Amino acid sequence: MERIAAAARKAGRDPGAIALVAVSKQQPDDRVDAVLSTGQRLFGENRVQEAKARWRARRELYPDLRLRLIGPLQTNKAADAVAFFDAIDSLDREKLARALADAAQKQGRCPEILIQVNTGEEPQKAGVPPSDADAFIRAARETYALPIKGLMCIPPVEEEPAMHFALLAKIAARNGLSQLSMGMSDDYETAIRFGATQVRVGSALFGPRT
Ligand SMILES: *Cc1c(COP(=O)(O)O)cnc(C)c1O
Repeated sequence: MERIAAAARKAGRDPGAIALVAVSKQQPDDRVDAVLSTGQRLFGENRVQEAKARWRARRELYPDLRLRLIGPLQTNKAADAVAFFDAIDSLDREKLARALADAAQKQGRCPEILIQVNTGEEPQKAGVPPSDADAFIRAARETYALPIKGLMCIPPVEEEPAMHFALLAKIAARNGLSQLSMGMSDDYETAIRFGATQVRVGSALFGPRT
């Protein structure tokens, strides 16, 4: 939290405008409980079933817990994800938009939603290509009436992340989106410089994943 605040101040930003998403995927329960005991309440998971197994009971103990799905979502798990998460950060295709909208209508609730952009246009990576982003954002909002709050990206591992963060910020700005989920253990300070409103930190917080 100190390093996030320092990075924010250095960038002339309000430290309170940046949320820490503690990425608890594949971490042992004792480490997760240790982080919970510090007062951290916002967590990110990348799989629906794993998240439910870990958090269902803990949610009873911590009513102010907030859970974000940060990994790719299959359409056949969309209803489960809508029922369980406070936010889904990985919307990236029309078929999933339709499944989320259907589930939200049936359940009478909808998590807030971020659209994942594949800023590096990597074939193996999820996300909308940057050139399709504006049209996809419009469709998600208008055709599917989803509560789109912002964008998420995972830059290519071998590239300088700054240009990817800058691109994501630019796409968000021209579409009037305020949330930017970008930056992980190795690059969250850079992401803050480029406007991240939430950083997703796993190993730097919990140690290496099991
Ligand atoms: C695992 C994961 C993270 C956290 O990665 P670290 O390098 O451990 O901080 C962040 N975002 C996503 C989408 C992830 O899958």
